[in-house]
Amino acid sequence: MAKRDYYEVLGVAKGADEAELKKAYRRLAMKYHPDRNPDDKEAEEKFKEANEAYEILSDAKKRAAYDQYGHAGVDPSMGGGPGAGNANFSDIFGDVFSDFFGSGGRGGRGGAQRGSDLRYTLELDLEEAVRGTTVNIRVPTLVSCSVCEGTGAKKGSSAITCPTCNGIGQVRMQQGFFSVQQTCPRCHGSGKIIPDPCPACKGRGRVEEQKTLSVKIPAGVDNGDRIRLAGEGEAGALGGPAGDLYVVVTIREHPIFQRDGRDLYCEVPISFVDAALGGELEVPTLDGRVKLKIPEGSQSGKMFRLRGKGVTSVRGGGPGDLMCRIMVETPVNLRPEQRKLLEEFRDTLQQDSSHSPKASGWFEGVKRFFEGL
Ligand SMILES: [Zn+2]
Ligand SMILES: [Zn+2]
Repeated sequence: MAKRDYYEVLGVAKGADEAELKKAYRRLAMKYHPDRNPDDKEAEEKFKEANEAYEILSDAKKRAAYDQYGHAGVDPSMGGGPGAGNANFSDIFGDVFSDFFGSGGRGGRGGAQRGSDLRYTLELDLEEAVRGTTVNIRVPTLVSCSVCEGTGAKKGSSAITCPTCNGIGQVRMQQGFFSVQQTCPRCHGSGKIIPDPCPACKGRGRVEEQKTLSVKIPAGVDNGDRIRLAGEGEAGALGGPAGDLYVVVTIREHPIFQRDGRDLYCEVPISFVDAALGGELEVPTLDGRVKLKIPEGSQSGKMFRLRGKGVTSVRGGGPGDLMCRIMVETPVNLRPEQRKLLEEFRDTLQQDSSHSPKASGWFEGVKRFFEGL
């Protein structure tokens, strides 16, 4: 695609002065800024186009070259190295926008910075998660240096304006035909340097510390739930506010229960005799044992629901249920007399298929399958 004329892009006359260029560029940049046009490819292209046009026309040397030779005179691909084209994007942005987007906007530099949020993974037993608990956790964190009160400068001294960039935080580097703006290598963009650093924090203004926090875990939390402790994250830089600490809950595997939201699941072994005759079974719940009535002829894998014996969610609502699945167990280590009893029992079964509803259904299916072949 052929490049549009830079003056046309900005919508200004050929003889436009610096103020007119800046005004035109601001208007376009505000309109097409990616933050205001998320996922809009066309706006992004327009934004880049305006950036490029402004970068060239706002620079007297580049503008002269462009006026004389057109795009060929300033084509970033014709030399100038990396950084000559759109790479300057945010730098330009910083120049023009810092005054009206404020230091919080993109390109703001040198000001106070909010500390990072921290994440702490907390392992809990199922019982603790269900009932709630209070735990003490130790977290490594950066805190404001108490010796220099976070300034990074030795007592009695203070930061001075960076002489390399005169406090701007950016320097212009000559790269062949072009001058490219870069973050100041001396002050790393802050515009200030500390000639006499605080010995306790080596000028960083923050020190690492282990702190112990008491965290109240509400009843009913589940895997992945997060508890936010506002302001307990990393200390901010240069007087900025602290970040938050997120305590993320993971629940240890339980030897008896599996949890699915508000419901609990467990498997209960049962002898085949009890399953056949029916009876009462003792099953575990989080609040102790309860009796469960098993009807006669219960099959292995049958699920029984104990209402209200599950978990009450941290988000409210009533408690869930406890689902008990019975697993019929085959007896092992039979003594001779037991084996004899079972053999006699087997003989009685073989005369009547009605005792084995599953097996008879299954054999019927097999028969139909072979007939269909
Ligand atoms: Zn310090
Ligand atoms: Zn500097």
